Amino acid sequence: MPELPEITIIAKQMNKELAGKRITEIEATQPKNLNIPILDFKKKSYGKVVVNISNRGKWIFIKLDPAYYMLINLGMGAEILYFASDHKRSEKYQFKLTFSDKTGFTIHFWWFGYVHLIPESDLKTHKLTANLGMSPTEETFTLQYFQKLLTHKRVAVKNFLTNQKNISGIGNVYVQDILFKAKLHPNRKISDLSEKEIRDLYSAIINVLNRSIRLGGLAYERDFYGRRGKLTVNKFLVGYKTGKPCPICGTLIKKIKTGSTHSYVCPKCQLP
Ligand SMILES: [Zn+2]
Repeated sequence: MPELPEITIIAKQMNKELAGKRITEIEATQPKNLNIPILDFKKKSYGKVVVNISNRGKWIFIKLDPAYYMLINLGMGAEILYFASDHKRSEKYQFKLTFSDKTGFTIHFWWFGYVHLIPESDLKTHKLTANLGMSPTEETFTLQYFQKLLTHKRVAVKNFLTNQKNISGIGNVYVQDILFKAKLHPNRKISDLSEKEIRDLYSAIINVLNRSIRLGGLAYERDFYGRRGKLTVNKFLVGYKTGKPCPICGTLIKKIKTGSTHSYVCPKCQLP
């Protein structure tokens, strides 16, 4: 399942390819992915021009002119693929968008996923995106912002980091190495963290996510051009490495249950 690095990479590639282009055709075969009826969706999209494309967490925001947004969520690993001309496109898709120059993209949904079209004025009340926390890839996600965000929070650090209302984009894959790098056990309470631990946690978030972006994301996910990332499981520090030695102290990595998810920890470096 894609997390913040993968979606950030795709949004950047989409912005590079699609900004300034005019929508001329929409094909959608799965009404459940859309927020409005297909005909309505087509009518409202036609002729609109892409202003820019960005992401917050796992949501892709296509800003359109005049004054609309197309919001895309790939759910459990849907594939969104660019095509330079119609005969070069992917065969498998439930959604296809074509521009006036005949380029475009397809989306092949796996489980759930969304393509919502909303007027810009409804952005603040769009249920699925309005309450998303800031992403660590956003410029305004500073240490100062992070310190403030953690003030008076009493929940376990892992639950806090993976709750999309606090921070959007961190899931069960990247949180493992983030906590290891910060030397924090997933069950540590936010209110018990020292100032130094909070600073280390902030650096760990930025480092782990940026490293993945540099590597093109996870090796089992594809980007907008269908290329796989270079971040393979053997490049993780502790994540999914049960029984392997900790890269710092050599103690064997343990898989433990933390609430409804699993965590991978070094029992010596990450004390409860
Ligand atoms: Zn260790």
